[in-house]
Amino acid sequence: MDTGTVLVIEDELPIRRFLKPSLQSEGFKVLEAVKGEEGLALASSHNPDIILLDLGLPDMDGLELVKRLREWASTPIIIITARGKEKDKIAGLDAGADDYLTKPFDVGELMARVRVALRHAERVKLGAKQDPVFETQDFKVDLAARVVTVRGKEVHLTPNEYDLLAFLVRHAGKVVTQKQILQEVWGPANGDQVQYLRIYVYQLRQKIETDPDRPRYIVTESGVGYRLKIE
Ligand code: CA
Repeated sequence: MDTGTVLVIEDELPIRRFLKPSLQSEGFKVLEAVKGEEGLALASSHNPDIILLDLGLPDMDGLELVKRLREWASTPIIIITARGKEKDKIAGLDAGADDYLTKPFDVGELMARVRVALRHAERVKLGAKQDPVFETQDFKVDLAARVVTVRGKEVHLTPNEYDLLAFLVRHAGKVVTQKQILQEVWGPANGDQVQYLRIYVYQLRQKIETDPDRPRYIVTESGVGYRLKIE
């Protein structure tokens, strides 16, 4: 069973001790680096399929490392960080990381994030187009026809609501920051219109979620952004 190579860049031994066997049991080959420079060297010499990166490294700011990796590599990067560091998470995602894991995290969460990031990268690499129909238990989005069906009934979305939903569908399973959504859906000048985004998310939940107050699909990633859940 060979599912790929993971590069773990993390100085905390307990985290590495948890990550390595967890990833190996899923069939991954694991490379480890304790320092940022070492991580950069391994990334360029071994071309891993995915990188798990701690933001607090002894020799380098993890954010700086994300930026340096992104100068030449499109390898998916998942940030590993402590709870309460929302600013760092956002900066990491905006610098080009794909997702994040908040310590402490469990194996299920780790593997789900890794699978989503790999699947996303694979699709980009193959130049494959998005499947035109996205379906969950409760709703269906036909991206080709621009038709949204909720529990069997077609619902009307405003153009902005539809564009927001389509953006989340294209990033299904991954976290997206408020800024990323605003800039890509409403244009580069709107990166800080957070209140605006909140209203559209609220409206979309009313139309799609069974219980809009406890959303099952369009979930808030506290202080960071949103994630369209697919599990
Ligand atoms: Ca650390």
